[in-house]
Amino acid sequence: MRFTPTELTIDERALQLEVREFLAAELPPGSHEPGLGMSARSDRAFSKKMADRGWVGMALPKEWGGSDKKAVDRFIVVEEMLRWGAPVGYHWVADRQTGSVINKFGNDEQRERFLPSICRGEIGFSIGMSEPDSGSDLASVSTKADRDDGGWILNGTKIWTSSAHTNDWFICLVRTTPVEPGGNKREGLSQVLIDLKNTEGLELSPIPFLNGEHHFNEVSFHDVFVPDENVVGQAGMGWNQNTTEMAYERGGPDRWLSPFSTVEQLLRETQGGDLERPVVELFGELTARWWALRNLSLSVARLIDDGDAPSVESSLVKEMGTRFELEVIEKLVELVDHELVSESESLFQRLLAQCVLTGPGNTIRGGTIEILRSVAAKGLQGLPA
Ligand SMILES: Cc1cc2nc3c(=O)[nH]c(=O)nc-3n(C[C@H](O)[C@H](O)[C@H](O)COP(=O)(O)OP(=O)(O)OC[C@H]3O[C@@H](n4cnc5c(N)ncnc54)[C@H](O)[C@@H]3O)c2cc1C
Repeated sequence: MRFTPTELTIDERALQLEVREFLAAELPPGSHEPGLGMSARSDRAFSKKMADRGWVGMALPKEWGGSDKKAVDRFIVVEEMLRWGAPVGYHWVADRQTGSVINKFGNDEQRERFLPSICRGEIGFSIGMSEPDSGSDLASVSTKADRDDGGWILNGTKIWTSSAHTNDWFICLVRTTPVEPGGNKREGLSQVLIDLKNTEGLELSPIPFLNGEHHFNEVSFHDVFVPDENVVGQAGMGWNQNTTEMAYERGGPDRWLSPFSTVEQLLRETQGGDLERPVVELFGELTARWWALRNLSLSVARLIDDGDAPSVESSLVKEMGTRFELEVIEKLVELVDHELVSESESLFQRLLAQCVLTGPGNTIRGGTIEILRSVAAKGLQGLPA
């Protein structure tokens, strides 16, 4: 395991300051309802403003509209945006993972088609991995792609697809070769790009969240035609590509910052008053643990910049980070001695009510705690994921 202590350089601190100044000017406290980390609102205009600064797709090559920046630079931008509760939802998935997948595995025609618009903050992507009978055991996906002239015919269903109703495109893991009895189900999978807005045979059905909000969708394919030019990388190599994609998903600030804006708002609302001893102790504990997690997570970004693929370290950061997020929420709930209501006049209490509803999903999305422990354990023993 490689968690090497690291600090930001002078240039990196300058970037951090630039992002803080941008946020203070664009979203001064009190001017917006902060989001809970990466579950923030989708706001195309805000994504465009970030893109104009070069902060969307920033690690992608300049040739395709990116800034050729490092993983640590993206870490800095993302850390500031998430702790501020900025509305980064629209470009989030494209920036965090789809752009890098297309750049790494796609061809030049696909890079030309998608990367400049990702970097301009003009295209939102959803993730099509989970299916009704396939979540943790992702290799068992059964959405079937049958060969056709110049492409593939898709039939099947994806589930829990976040924001498919507001995003534009979808990157999906599908089965292009059936598994023979006793065969390896990690073989014969492929990643395909699908237009969410203009595809005949694609049906979107909302799955209402606990509070009735529309976040999740079921996306079903009824003889959907996917042209060959929309297959990313090599047909049949989807498992390896998807594993790389998941490594981009884990280990970043989005896995430990979800309740940060809630804690910060509690501080704002208690400012000037005498804090009771348990509250002071809680702030002390949370600050220390946040700082430790933040440094582990930063060291993962450094490893990526050194050309490493730190899947063990990033899985452990996600495991520890999301567990910590749940503890933060529990401790805040203990502090509040009455029932939480989402219409409260207190922004802190509104945010906390939202944390209580969405928090349990934090340890599930992007791989459950049990699965992450298993990835880390296998990785430490040198076994395949
Ligand atoms: C907020 C949120 C957003 C999401 N967004 C998306 C999205 O945009 N796109 C997408 O594709 N999916 C998305 N998901 C789905 C998510 O990836 C799956 O829910 C997750 O992978 C778990 O799969 P499952 O729900 O089928 O649970 P299961 O796989 O059925 O797991 C049920 C329980 O069994 C445990 N378990 C399963 N297998 C093992 C094992 N081998 N060893 C030990 N324990 C095991 C799990 O840890 C879990 O506790 C989202 C989920 C949430 C909560």
